[in-house]
Amino acid sequence: MDKRVVIVTGAGIGIGKSVAERFAGQGDHVVVTDVLEAEGKAVTEAITAAGGSAEFHALNVRDTAAADALVGDVIDRFGRIDVIVANAGIAHRVPMSEMTDEKWDETFDVDLKGMLRVIRPALPAMKAGGSIICLSSIMGVAYGWDEHVHYSSAKAGVVGLVRGLAVEVAKRGIRVNGIAPGYIRTAQLLSEKNSLGPNAAEIASPYIPMGRLGEPEEIASVIGFLASADASYLTGQVVTVDGGLLPG
Ligand code: NAD
Repeated sequence: MDKRVVIVTGAGIGIGKSVAERFAGQGDHVVVTDVLEAEGKAVTEAITAAGGSAEFHALNVRDTAAADALVGDVIDRFGRIDVIVANAGIAHRVPMSEMTDEKWDETFDVDLKGMLRVIRPALPAMKAGGSIICLSSIMGVAYGWDEHVHYSSAKAGVVGLVRGLAVEVAKRGIRVNGIAPGYIRTAQLLSEKNSLGPNAAEIASPYIPMGRLGEPEEIASVIGFLASADASYLTGQVVTVDGGLLPG
């Protein structure tokens, strides 16, 4: 494989879908993974129809054996993994007083440990120039929100993962960075069960200095930069992409 090989988790919809399209559009081979099989296949078919290079694999990031098998298969076939975008995530609204152990553990298992499961088997095959990008959230770096304590906690854990792993693999020339998106127009944000609901734009925009929600493509473009040689001296950082919300 002469193209860069990019693994994206949760790439069937939302930010992950835009990330897959972005990397494929610039000539990389994208390994699209998601629990959502129909959506993931549709992303892969659209990329291929547009002349890009992609393949879909069903992957639940809660399944260690499946992640090991998938990453091992990618290494066996291509001999390389250049970029991992650990994007898969859930954000169910639950007040702390009603929090169950199961819901807390599920959130950590997907949003934080799910990253370990994909990064760990890939690391031995990654070479200098390799790049890992993990999706945190403004709620993981400097922003609290009711009914999201478990989510904020897991996303803060992602910041720790980024900082620690960046130091551990720096001497091998592998960079690790995070993204802390603000309010981005995806199914997660537009779901009442998970976040603001269908009126998210009206609810959030007055608080956002730029006066609007972000688009998934505006996260994907920053991820594309972080994975590029233009960011060759940038590691261990979590970049906030929120239309000015936190400084505002
Ligand atoms: P989304 O709900 O649109 O997409 C999430 C994707 O993750 C889906 O494709 C889903 O199937 C996948 N996924 C969920 N559980 C999975 C599992 N166990 N295994 C594999 N895939 C799984 O959400 P999004 O807004 O695109 O979010 C992408 C990432 O960005 C998430 O980590 C999210 O927490 C983070 N984020 C989003 C926002 C926002 O405003 N949309 C803000 C901050 C952070």
